[in-house]
This record gives sequence, structure tokens and C-alpha cells, in this order.
Amino acid sequence: MNLILFGPPGAGKGTQADIIVKKFNLYKISTGDLLREEIKKKTDLGNKIKSMIDKGILVSDTIINDLIIKILSDNKFYNRLIFDGYPRNINQTKNLDLLLKKYDQKISCVLCLNVEKATIIKRILGRLICSNCGLIFNEYFYPVTKINHSCDPKSLKKRSDDNEKTIISRFETYLDKTLPILDFYKKQNLLHEINAMGKIDQISEEICDIIASLEA
Ligand code: AMP
Repeated sequence: MNLILFGPPGAGKGTQADIIVKKFNLYKISTGDLLREEIKKKTDLGNKIKSMIDKGILVSDTIINDLIIKILSDNKFYNRLIFDGYPRNINQTKNLDLLLKKYDQKISCVLCLNVEKATIIKRILGRLICSNCGLIFNEYFYPVTKINHSCDPKSLKKRSDDNEKTIISRFETYLDKTLPILDFYKKQNLLHEINAMGKIDQISEEICDIIASLEA
């Protein structure tokens, strides 16, 4: 089973993907996380990627396609993927389709998380990520406590693109380039729309029910 978690920036895709991965024994492929790993290496490519991410625009399809080929050609991940933040435009969608056919795989379901713009902005501005364990928290909606996090509080960081100016441009990029790909999956009857305005565990319960029904 391969899944796509779809939605605007700040919809909670990463948080939900982490829950689904544990419950259904899948691998999360976040192209954003893979790009941030490259940035950490401080290579020329990493610097180029950083400048695009900080502007809130999409990184080139060639860079993304190279990352995805490595994943889909790896037997370890065969039919066990949940894509978070990919595909992001029509070209990536078509390329994914070709690669899935080439590696004898398919998408079982596209879960679209719907959230209002005002909530998105608050979620992004409050987001904190632990650079040690990777867990995602939120100053407003899911604060760090001694129970939910055991790493040094100094490892909690904000993303460099989680600022008010970049959020607006990321949201516009989403409307302009990413949202149109929904039609592609709607036509294949793969789309499940989810109201993602509520609490994390309510949303994950709805998502897990949908995934469980695919497995049945
Ligand atoms: P995310 O972590 O998914 O919020 O992505 C952060 C940023 O990484 C985006 O604003 C883009 O600049 C870049 N990015 C992530 N995934 C993709 C993708 N599939 N295609 C192009 N750019 C991407």
C-alpha cells in the first residue's frame, strides 16, 4: 500500500504521517525533510535548495525526481510508502505515475487534509521541531510537556521558512501549482477529503479508519 498525504503547508501532514507510519508499518517520504537533510550538508546543491525554500517556491523537478527514483527503486520501500509533501505539481504527478508503473507499484489512496488559511498560519507560526528525535510540536495546539518529549529542550527548533512572509508565498505556491493536481487523483477515484481543523487524534482516527478499510 502506497499513500499520499495531501494538503496546504501547515495542514498537519507531517504529524499525521508520523502516526500512520507507526500504526501501519510504512515509511514516510517527506521531500521537505530530504531537502533539509541536503541543506545541512552545506553543499552547493544544499545552498541552492535553501534559497528556494526560504523564498517559499518549489525546488526544481529534476532535484525532486532524483530523490524519488532512489526511493521507488529500493526494494526495502516496495509498496510501503506514505508521501508527505509530494507530488507538488503536475509534472511531479505525471513523473510519479510513470515511475510507479516502472517499479510495478500503485497509489492506494490520496488523503487530502483541508484546513482554513487562518489556522494554517497559526499552526506554522507555532511549529517547533526537535532536531534530535524529529517529533513535531506546536506552541498553541500541541505544546511540549515532560510526558510527550524527553530530549533536551534546546533541541527544539523553528524552521527557517516558518515566518509570516514565507508562509504567504508557500500558500500561494500551493494554490497555484499543487492544488490543481487533485483533479488527477479525483478522476481515478483515489481521493479522500478530510476535515483537518480538529484535534490531532480525532483527525488521525478518521485517517486510520480509511486506511484500515483499504487493507480489509
Ligand atoms: P515542506 O517540508 O513539505 O513544507 O516543504 C518545505 C519546502 O521544501 C517547500 O516550500 C518547497 O520549497 C520545498 N519542497 C518540498 N517538497 C517539494 C516538492 N515535492 N517539490 C518541490 N519543492 C518541494
